[in-house]
Formats: sequence, C-alpha cells, structure tokens
Amino acid sequence: MKAVCWHGANDVRVETVPDPKIINPRDAIIKITSTAICGSDLHIYNGYIPTMEKGDILGHEFMGEVVELGSSVKNVKVGDRVVVPFTISCGNCFFCNQDLWSLCDNSNPNAWMVEKQMGYSPSGLFGYSHLFGGYAGGQAQYARVPFADVGLFKIPDGLTDEQVLFLTDVFPTGYMAAENCDIKTGDTVAVWGCGPVGQFAIKSAYLLGAERVIAIDRIPERLEMAKTYGKAEVLNYEEIDVGEALKEMTGGRGPDACIDAVGMEAHGTDLMSFYDQAKQAVRLETDRPTALRQVIVSCRKGGHVSIPGVYGGFIDKVPMGAAMNKGLTFKMGQTHVHKYLQPLLEHIQNGKIDPTFIISHRLPIEEAPHGYEIFKHKKDNCTKVVLKP
Ligand SMILES: [Zn+2]
Ligand SMILES: [Zn+2]
Repeated sequence: MKAVCWHGANDVRVETVPDPKIINPRDAIIKITSTAICGSDLHIYNGYIPTMEKGDILGHEFMGEVVELGSSVKNVKVGDRVVVPFTISCGNCFFCNQDLWSLCDNSNPNAWMVEKQMGYSPSGLFGYSHLFGGYAGGQAQYARVPFADVGLFKIPDGLTDEQVLFLTDVFPTGYMAAENCDIKTGDTVAVWGCGPVGQFAIKSAYLLGAERVIAIDRIPERLEMAKTYGKAEVLNYEEIDVGEALKEMTGGRGPDACIDAVGMEAHGTDLMSFYDQAKQAVRLETDRPTALRQVIVSCRKGGHVSIPGVYGGFIDKVPMGAAMNKGLTFKMGQTHVHKYLQPLLEHIQNGKIDPTFIISHRLPIEEAPHGYEIFKHKKDNCTKVVLKP
C-alpha cells in the first residue's frame, strides 16, 4: 500500500510499504477513504518529537471502511463506514472506565519509555512516535486499528467523509478545550491560536454558553475565519498588545477563561519568545511556551486556563507566581475522544456545526509532502489538508 512515511525533519515521503495485518483478535483493518494532516503532525515534521524512526507511517486523523476484523470484534461488520479516534484505548482499565480514554493504561506497549520522564504513561497514539506506542498511522491506504471493538465508531448513512472526519481529533479536542473552561452563561473566553483546534474551541465555547469569544493569532486568513465562521472578536498579536487589549475589552477584569490552542511551537514578538527559540534550537528547552505565559497573565483572577495545545517536555519561565496568586484552575490533556463521538456527531446531524469549514485543501495522498509544506508555512491560505488515499 501507499503510506506517508517520516524520514527526518522536513522530510516525509510517500512510499510503498507492506499492507497491515490482523495480529490480535481485537484488531480491525480499515481501508482509508479520508485522512488529514494535523497541527500536531507538524511538531513531528519539524523534528521536535523524539523517538521517531525513519519509515514510520504518520497520521492520526483517519476514517474509512472496515475490510477485515479480528475474531473478537462483534460490534461492527465488514463494509461499515467508521471514524477512528486518535487515542488508542482498551475500554476496560481503571481510566477507560472513568471516561479518561486518553489515559488508558493498556494501549502503550512502550509505556516504560514515557514513565522515565512523566512518571506514568498516557494512552498509545496512532502515528505519533515510539514514545506513544510506535503504532503505524493513518496517512495511508490501510491501517490496523487495535482494540477495534471500542476504537471504531460507526457513521450513519447520509453523512460525507468531510462532515465526520474531524471527529477523530480536532473537533473533540476543541470541544474538550471549551468544556475544560467550565463556562457559565455570559462568560468571555479568549482563545490563543486560530488553527483547526482553536476554530473548534471558538465554536464549542459558544455552544457551551459563552457570551463573547475573543480569538488571537497573527495569520490574517485564520483571524478572518474566526470572525466569519466562529463569530469571534479577533486580535492580531503582531499589531497590538494582547494583554492590554483583553483588559480593555473586559472592563478591566480579564477573560473568564483562556485557552492555549498553540502549544510547544508558539511564536511571539517579545524578548522572551526569542529566548525560547534560541533555547529550543540548541535543545536546552524542549517547548516554547509563549502563548501559555500570555494566557496565565491575561486570565482574570479565579479564572480557568485550558490547554489543548501539545507540549512534549519542559518549559522555562512559566509565571507560576501569577497562576498561584490569581487562583487559576488549570485543565489540560490529550482528548478523551471516545467520550465525545456520539454527542458531537449529533451536533453535526442537527446542523449546530458543519466541521467542513476548516478544509482549505484536498490532495491525493501522493501530494502529502506538498501538503505538509504549505500547512507548515501557512502558504496558499492553508488551514487544513485532507488527503485522499
Ligand atoms: Zn490531530
Ligand atoms: Zn484502557
């Protein structure tokens, strides 16, 4: 089959590799009909995620048709159309039983590697390094899905791939980010980062009762999308002082909740962000927390900080004094995708949200390297690339 393989920083290649096989009774093989490139794939593309190996198949946002099932998978049939959550979960452990799917105890065979750094390992992830299980990803013609009896979600007839593809990650991730803000009716929510997750966080904040959403980015097309589709008020951080603007817009009090939908490769205009770029470049700091610092300082006293943006390791100069003394509540984590599939599918079916608005490019899988390039550099108004195997 054809697959998008990683070969180093800024080097992905479409190669012919062996088809996946059933190796466990709870496996399924999916013939992929649509797959997307995610902002978190760019952290791998840029070379910031350790334990990638040459030839690893990328991709964790994919859907398709069931073509083969292990003997224990009874809840779907060959021929069903399914979406696949990016987190891999067993469905039986302490964490899965509490709806904390991305913290599954049984799906990362390389948990020992993560435990050295993090104490305990979260779940395995598709196409996201050997640290998170070394699973082949879904930017390919076929994929093996482990724990398929809990990891496949059947799509009802009448919905297109593009309407449901983002249930695999960015829609639930944006939704959970908004949910983590504990929004009360009338709240003001500020969202840093207007990529796909930020866009879905904006939409979701309104769905959950926010009165105002303020979106922050520097890319004009993304700010325009936040304004047009998300109905957010927008701030370009290259043009104004975000902290001052937020203070002014909220009567001097600050937003009730702030979302960091940027993560470890933030850009900034202040001295501190150049410090981060320099330290990250020589590997003295793994992540650049420019957005996170602003989030903490800008949030109102007693407010909520929600972090869907990916961090991988260690960050410097986090204003912990501000966080503690202002009594902030922090919520974060990889998304518990399985928990959100049914409710968010219903939002799509009843027309409350049409996730297709974020798609800017549809490419055959052979053009994946071009897709990564334009998405990384935000060329050609690129907001989201869907690949067709
Ligand atoms: Zn993703
Ligand atoms: Zn589990």
